[in-house]
Amino acid sequence: MAGLGVSCEASFVGELSPMGFTTKQIHAGVSPDPVTGSILTPVYQTTTFVQESVDEYLSKGYSYSRSANPTVRALEKKLSSLEGGFDCTCYSTGMAAIQAVIQASLSGGEHAVVSDVAYGGTYRLCTKIYQRFGVEFTFSDTSDPDAVSAAIKDNTRLILTETPANPNLKCTDIAAISEISRSRGITHAVDNTFLTPFYQRPLELGADIVIHSTTKYFDGHNATVGGAVITKSQDLDEPIRFIQNASGVIMSPWVAWLTLQGCKTLSIRLERQSANAQVIAEFLESHPKVSTVNYPGLASFSQFELASRQAEGFGAMLGFEVHGGVEAGKKLIGALRLCALAENLGSVETLITHPVTMTHADVDKAERDRVGITDSFLRLSVGLEDVEDLIADLSQALDCI
Ligand SMILES: *Cc1c(COP(=O)(O)O)cnc(C)c1O
Repeated sequence: MAGLGVSCEASFVGELSPMGFTTKQIHAGVSPDPVTGSILTPVYQTTTFVQESVDEYLSKGYSYSRSANPTVRALEKKLSSLEGGFDCTCYSTGMAAIQAVIQASLSGGEHAVVSDVAYGGTYRLCTKIYQRFGVEFTFSDTSDPDAVSAAIKDNTRLILTETPANPNLKCTDIAAISEISRSRGITHAVDNTFLTPFYQRPLELGADIVIHSTTKYFDGHNATVGGAVITKSQDLDEPIRFIQNASGVIMSPWVAWLTLQGCKTLSIRLERQSANAQVIAEFLESHPKVSTVNYPGLASFSQFELASRQAEGFGAMLGFEVHGGVEAGKKLIGALRLCALAENLGSVETLITHPVTMTHADVDKAERDRVGITDSFLRLSVGLEDVEDLIADLSQALDCI
């Protein structure tokens, strides 16, 4: 390549900076395969990696696919870049990602403060598993910084917040809680599944760790389950990476590859899905058969100001209740033709969920009542379909109740 100056040689485009989010979601973490030129990172479906010699063990960076795999590493680098983190570790599911954070942060006899409205599996993991190992949890209204301060004890090591929270979109002020955690030497981890770094970047707001169920918006196509933890520094990353390898709850190369493809359209999907959600939230709010609508982009949302301040968009998740309670809600679900009754969220298909019998069935009824997850609450994950078709479907179903 005589005559080519250094500046013209192919470089790892993921290292160019600064880049816009949409460029990064396509290029960060990946570069053409050095052997074949394949533009897509190959699925490195292999258990082990042959070493040059005992002395040069790990000279290519890989030993065994539980410890690290090149396809999974490409996704980890991409997600870390999108959140603005130090590095990322990926897992078999979002729950496994939350477990890695709990295991790295807490030992028996220590305490965590957790958002009282959160994904039902988070509550189940804390109360049904880690409490048995002597870890203590306080489920606190993290939308109120004073309540978080009051819940902190001498043995508190972790504050785990989720915002906007599953299922009713309650928001937590990430900067305010991060200030509290920093002043007390506590780690603040934020489950950022609902908004993704396209709309909300907790590390920039002062948080230490970001958690994702990649099952949701990063995949975006209802194809996989997976999770990720993004850390802001090496000292936080190392213990979590140790757990990823030691506990073995890793993401597979195939899931990483599918998620890499999903990431490339994240911003475009989320923008359109959020625009759809705004139209649907306004339609539902004005409908006589609908009693309440929770959507952070509505001026009537109790935390509209916070949602506007800490995120660049309102997302595509909303909750609502119809007059007539549980029975009317069931009728509505039964009458829908385009919106599917299914768990999961963030996909291109619009999905409706009844949290009390589905995603949040393992949250004690008393706790659900306390935090306002009512029996008649419905959660809608707005997809990428034409919004007129979604409105027509909801409208005809509302006419049936
Ligand atoms: C779905 C979800 C999880 C759990 O993720 P899985 O991939 O289903 O294990 C965690 N947090 C939030 C906010 C979720 O929506």
